[in-house]
Amino acid sequence: MDVKKEKIGFIGLGIMGLPMASNLMKDGFDLVVYNRTLSKCTQLEDKGAVVAKNPADVAKNAKVIITMVTDSPDVENLLLGENGIMSTIEEGSIVIDMSTISPKITKELNSKLNSKGCYMVDAPVSGGSWGAIEGTLSIMIGGEKSAYEQCVPLFESMGKNIIYTGESGMGQTTKLVNQILVAGTMNAVAEALVFAAKSGADLEKTIDAVGGGAAASWQLNNLAPRIIKGDFDPGFMIKLQQKDLRLVIETAQSMNVPIPGTSLASQMFASLLSKGLGDEGTQALVKAYETLAGVEARTK
Ligand code: NAP
Repeated sequence: MDVKKEKIGFIGLGIMGLPMASNLMKDGFDLVVYNRTLSKCTQLEDKGAVVAKNPADVAKNAKVIITMVTDSPDVENLLLGENGIMSTIEEGSIVIDMSTISPKITKELNSKLNSKGCYMVDAPVSGGSWGAIEGTLSIMIGGEKSAYEQCVPLFESMGKNIIYTGESGMGQTTKLVNQILVAGTMNAVAEALVFAAKSGADLEKTIDAVGGGAAASWQLNNLAPRIIKGDFDPGFMIKLQQKDLRLVIETAQSMNVPIPGTSLASQMFASLLSKGLGDEGTQALVKAYETLAGVEARTK
């Protein structure tokens, strides 16, 4: 199939999905979109997208369907629930799931699609809402290779670092590796900033100094400047980070792999969820360390 000539379905127009779908439209793809909260479709409808009534209606009108929703049960519901994709999907269609969900459930859904002559390509992303807006996401892809190859023009419209990682579920597994790294790094950034604040260090100069050396990281260079300004708006919400760490912990337990660093980060994020801060960005992890140390890491 030549995806450039196909109508493309897009389901889930949240922080990530909306800019990703916009980039596809900018590159000339013809979209049929669905979002549970209908009002989020307006912006794309104004640019010419067709708005579908439900996921089944998307699958009736598009042979490639991208999903970008929250968690495993949400993707299962889009496919298998009432008015779901499976009820109308045509043989030869491809579902590209770009949400971060369980590798195990991904494989199960792929098998169900295979029984209808279709494929699921798992293609979770990294790079945050900024990467989604700029079209510079890292995309980690698993699934049938021929299905992936047909979808490359779509991935190129949404991302820059596009890596095929292997069989179904392997894209999600790679994303969980990514989440171990980002949660551990965010934890270190939060701890380091609180240490610097308690020491009376100039926080801006500290970030500039250590951000140019071996301690540089995406979290330090992008999120620490926001922390010290008191900007906790989400690119990536704490509640979604915790969902991903839950997937990491479940998967690690199934393999008897110890993950003490990730478990610590997860406990610190949990303390913020219990304070009702789940909708804040992951940089708000600093607040957990601030509470412990009795100091705020902010510029005056
Ligand atoms: P978000 O802003 O909360 O958007 C979630 C989207 O999923 C909304 O469109 C929501 O619809 C839809 N949805 C949730 N449950 C649904 C259900 N049961 N049925 C139908 N639609 C449902 O989240 P996001 O930040 O865009 O994240 C989306 C995915 O990308 C998540 O898996 C997340 O882990 C992953 N991700 C996020 C980032 C990031 O920086 N934000 C980075 C990498 C990966 P409503 O509008 O009706 O609520």
